[in-house]
Amino acid sequence: MLISFEGIDGCGKSTQARLLAEALRAEGREVVLTREPGGSPGAEEIRRLLVEGAGERWSPETECLLFTAARRDHLERTIRPALAAGHTVVTDRFADSTRVYQGAARGDLRDLVDRLHGLMIGIEPDRSFVIDIDPATGLQRGAARGGAEDRFESLGLGFQERLATGFRALAREYPDRVRLIDGRGTPDQVAARIRAAL
Ligand code: C5P
Repeated sequence: MLISFEGIDGCGKSTQARLLAEALRAEGREVVLTREPGGSPGAEEIRRLLVEGAGERWSPETECLLFTAARRDHLERTIRPALAAGHTVVTDRFADSTRVYQGAARGDLRDLVDRLHGLMIGIEPDRSFVIDIDPATGLQRGAARGGAEDRFESLGLGFQERLATGFRALAREYPDRVRLIDGRGTPDQVAARIRAAL
């Protein structure tokens, strides 16, 4: 089973991915906890190209290609082998992030994103959790943990609001797969909502 966590910067998805992985392991499952961009040595190298450095280094189209290349490597080296071994894979971001960040918020590139996904990735998670929070709260949490550490998080409130709108629209677009989870409250409260939805 492949489970993804999605949402805007500072929504708490990394914490929730870890808590769910720990809970499933405590029940005796073999769980691979991984992340995007990254999750394999090659994809982690591509992550550095994407998140380091200031300014608009890549065009939105080039960014789509790099995220897709990273996802392809992650799929080949980490996700598919783990699924083939019967493990549960919990990933902090997957293709929905590209649909929203590059497909909707950075440019109007959803068609390109979908075509690349069809050509190179082809699979969807069994279940995706979008952790929904107010964009201003997400930015505050990001600042509290050390500020805008990469160029994406420094794009500001308007960008985070476009992202939040995009993730909510995805939950409507894929009602069977994507669950919108209220991200307010303590990590344990949010984790309980996710367990109920799973
Ligand atoms: O989730 P995480 O903070 O590790 O993601 C790294 C950065 O890459 C974030 O700032 C996120 O906004 C950005 N990102 C992106 N497009 C994606 C996935 C992540 O711009 N498809």
